[in-house]
Amino acid sequence: MATELRLPTHTIVRPDKDTFLDEDNPFEAMMLRFDQAAELLDLEPGLYRVLRNPEKQIIVSIPVMMDNGEVEVFTGYRVLYNTSRGPAKGGIRFDLQVTLEEVKALAAWMTWKCAVVNIPFGGSKGGVVCDPHTMSASELERLTRRYTAGIINVLGPDSDVPAPDVNTNERVMAWIMDTYSMHVGHTTTAVVTGKPVEMGGSLGRREATGRGCMIVVKEALAHLGMPVKGTTVAVQGFGNVGSVAAQLLHAEGCKVVAIGDRSVSYYDPNGIDVNAAIAYVSKRRHLDGYGKGEVISGADLLTLDVDVLVPAALENVITTKNAGDIRARIICEGANGPTSAAADSILEENGVFVVPDILANAGGVTVSYFEWVQDRGGYFWTEQLVNDRLRDIMVHSFQAVLSLSKQHKVNMRTAAYMLAISRVATVHRLRGVYA
Ligand code: NAD
Repeated sequence: MATELRLPTHTIVRPDKDTFLDEDNPFEAMMLRFDQAAELLDLEPGLYRVLRNPEKQIIVSIPVMMDNGEVEVFTGYRVLYNTSRGPAKGGIRFDLQVTLEEVKALAAWMTWKCAVVNIPFGGSKGGVVCDPHTMSASELERLTRRYTAGIINVLGPDSDVPAPDVNTNERVMAWIMDTYSMHVGHTTTAVVTGKPVEMGGSLGRREATGRGCMIVVKEALAHLGMPVKGTTVAVQGFGNVGSVAAQLLHAEGCKVVAIGDRSVSYYDPNGIDVNAAIAYVSKRRHLDGYGKGEVISGADLLTLDVDVLVPAALENVITTKNAGDIRARIICEGANGPTSAAADSILEENGVFVVPDILANAGGVTVSYFEWVQDRGGYFWTEQLVNDRLRDIMVHSFQAVLSLSKQHKVNMRTAAYMLAISRVATVHRLRGVYA
């Protein structure tokens, strides 16, 4: 039921793929994938233009009284990319590398991710340019509360629901929930997900993204006829996503031979003791000094001769510079956007099976959805029920993307974008253009 006239696709103005360096701009890198899928779907130009633009972009200056009595001003962003399918959903990151372009890209990713796993959310993302490692807990609390106040008009269980991302955690979510609740005058647990379980968080949420990675790696191994037991794995990033993915893959019988974070990377062909490494990081907050295994560079970790590579740190770590050297048979993108658009074709030519970010790391937002449902219903599920429902959604979504990829003879990333865009586009067509 299209509401607009179909125009020839040549009316669409796209960035020049030959001259555009996708590695320079995460938003345009993401949009190159969007463009490929939109073209295959023969998306109407009007809808293409709508989906290529974020609905709302907010930039806030955040004055914070530092512990030394000086006032510092930080910059924060919140982008609501698309809310056609439901409230916007997306994490908040605290990092010095945060830019508006990055936040826009991440917000768009969230839109496609929620659509791939078919949960009733749109996509958003937020970020504050800061180095949380150099800030005290009380400085971080003041920063979080003032940032929340700055974006409060868009927040709400029915409008925009944040979650943790890089360098934010359930403590930060508790501050956001409290600040929002103070402003609206009543406790509103469903305004954020990834909260402490004691205040409306869901069992299984903290592990959900890593658990989702483990589930899709097993699906990919089964698809390729590879065994789970003894499969070698390298994991880049040892935070919320990477450490849990490593732990659960290890528990399933895989051999995790390399792990790394921003401080150091370790390689042990006999297998890393993942649980010991997690225990070490929980005390020290980084892997440096863990000491078991050979120290390798972060770059070398990515090109190890392993069956499965799980990039679970930051974006753009697999680019045209190193894609040709990747030896893994499967890449499971735990991070958002770890592979540049230009690197995709190199990986495809070399037969690397990529489980794309919008599918591979969708476990987190899926259990965030469960958390939101539980908060709104005021009735909480067992961890087993959460994990079972997560498995159902991840397996079903993986198989839906795989079958689309076979049907259209495209890679898993393009198929995932096609599935996501077609779902978002269908709702736009049904809703029409409000004038
Ligand atoms: P986190 O802050 O818990 O962990 C990030 C990890 O990456 C840390 O171990 C850090 O040391 C490491 N790291 C940072 N820079 C690095 C570098 N240059 N080289 C190697 N390691 C580096 O963050 P997280 O929640 O685990 O998120 C990781 C990625 O997963 C991000 O891309 C995030 O957007 C994505 N993601 C997270 C969730 C979630 O539920 N937390 C959900 C979906 C996607």
